[in-house]
Amino acid sequence: MTTSSVIIIGAGISGITAAKELAENGVEDVLILEATERIGGRIQKQSFGDVSVELGAGWIAGVGGKESNPVWELASRLNLRTCFSDYTNARYNIYDRSGEIFPTRFAADSYKKAVDSAILKLKSLEAECSGQEAEEAPSSPETPIELAIDFILHDFEMAEVEPISTYVDFGEREYLVADERGYESLLYKMAEGFLYTSDGNILDNRLKLNKVVREVQQSRNGVVVKTEDGSEYEANYVIVSASIGVLQSNLISFQPPLPLLLVTEMENRSYPKCDVMVYTKIFLKFPHCFWPCGPGQEFFIYAHEQRGYFTFWQHMENAYPGSNILVVTLTNEQSKRVESQSDEETLKEAMSVLRDMFGPTIPCATDILVPRWWNNRFQRGSYSNYPMISDNQLQRNVKAPFGRIFFTGEHTSEKFSGYVHGGYLAGMETSKSLLEEMKQSLLLQPLLAFTE
Ligand code: FAD
Repeated sequence: MTTSSVIIIGAGISGITAAKELAENGVEDVLILEATERIGGRIQKQSFGDVSVELGAGWIAGVGGKESNPVWELASRLNLRTCFSDYTNARYNIYDRSGEIFPTRFAADSYKKAVDSAILKLKSLEAECSGQEAEEAPSSPETPIELAIDFILHDFEMAEVEPISTYVDFGEREYLVADERGYESLLYKMAEGFLYTSDGNILDNRLKLNKVVREVQQSRNGVVVKTEDGSEYEANYVIVSASIGVLQSNLISFQPPLPLLLVTEMENRSYPKCDVMVYTKIFLKFPHCFWPCGPGQEFFIYAHEQRGYFTFWQHMENAYPGSNILVVTLTNEQSKRVESQSDEETLKEAMSVLRDMFGPTIPCATDILVPRWWNNRFQRGSYSNYPMISDNQLQRNVKAPFGRIFFTGEHTSEKFSGYVHGGYLAGMETSKSLLEEMKQSLLLQPLLAFTE
């Protein structure tokens, strides 16, 4: 059995960052076990309609503020091609089911009303949680336009409702990655810094792909990690970077089991727990554009009586002119629903929505791409979603080391959970804590030998 200082489970941004940080601090015998045939995790490009589209993370969120977003810095060093996204326009491009655009004034008023009501709702929730008398909560959205705005305010984390650390710290701008090398090229660049690569391929046997970890056995002397193909690996420490969805699914069993608090959070539904958000970008390729492509028209909204039903649309002409691609974003129950049906059925639904907006004569899409993050057993969702009112105790519990097992991943980031930079900063933080632990245990060794 091979023995390493540290085994890292998962080669997404947090796992690769943690490994790099360890290597740069002298811990070079790390072993990265990744379940799939690639590095990147939830950062994944795919060829579609002659361009490269991002199935997972697409934006570098939080740019232009007083502090610099580390992921933006990595992207700038790599000259990654990006496109500024101005979501604010979306609210003036809201279509009803007969293809009429809601008048600007009415749309702006509806948006303001929805923001005010969301703020009030949050305040009354805060009051309730702190035992104060809550003001009467505003009525819930009912009409198609109210439901559509509610969807984009909450499922897209619009910062008007509550301050979001990403935008407060790093700035309010968001840039869409539109580069044939893909967002994942940031990870390859990082990996190049400490793993042996040739012609853009990682050939270092400290990275093992197609290794699905099923068991982590911890004893006083070390940790044994068992994979689905029957291999066993030994190390002094383990860093687990699998998503919160994977941890909740029990794909990996821990011996001894994880501490009560963590297990309770994951299994006891009555205790506040970290939810998993499912976020699906469906790509549709057309023979030509039939949608408006002028300034301020990149994003548009479909108002339907069912909340979240093919609501949020984006054309890709700004990112890739001439690509003739539309993207529609679904979340949670709608995501799970389309994941469980055939792509043909989803295409039929999307086309019917587009015909509502743009008329019966538009051409049918020639191709569709539906990522399935929920049914992917190495993801089980798109990103963590902590309760709106939270004192970060949940994150602290989730990331607390358990003996020789450390945890990382976007879900362990107290300020930036859900984002690529959250994963990156979590990887840094976890490796720093582990380095500290390793230093302490080295200092203790002579003392222990003496007492034995
Ligand atoms: P992951 O990338 O999930 O890495 C964990 C790795 O562990 C994976 O490679 C997985 O295969 C592996 N693994 C799991 N189980 C096992 C096992 N048993 N054995 C071995 N390996 C295992 N963020 C943004 O900043 N901007 C965006 O625009 C954005 N949009 C998003 C859109 C979608 C659709 C999704 C899915 C995510 C989006 N995110 C976005 C979030 C962002 O992608 C994540 O926060 C980030 O990539 C998470 O990195 P991670 O290292 O924590 O986890």
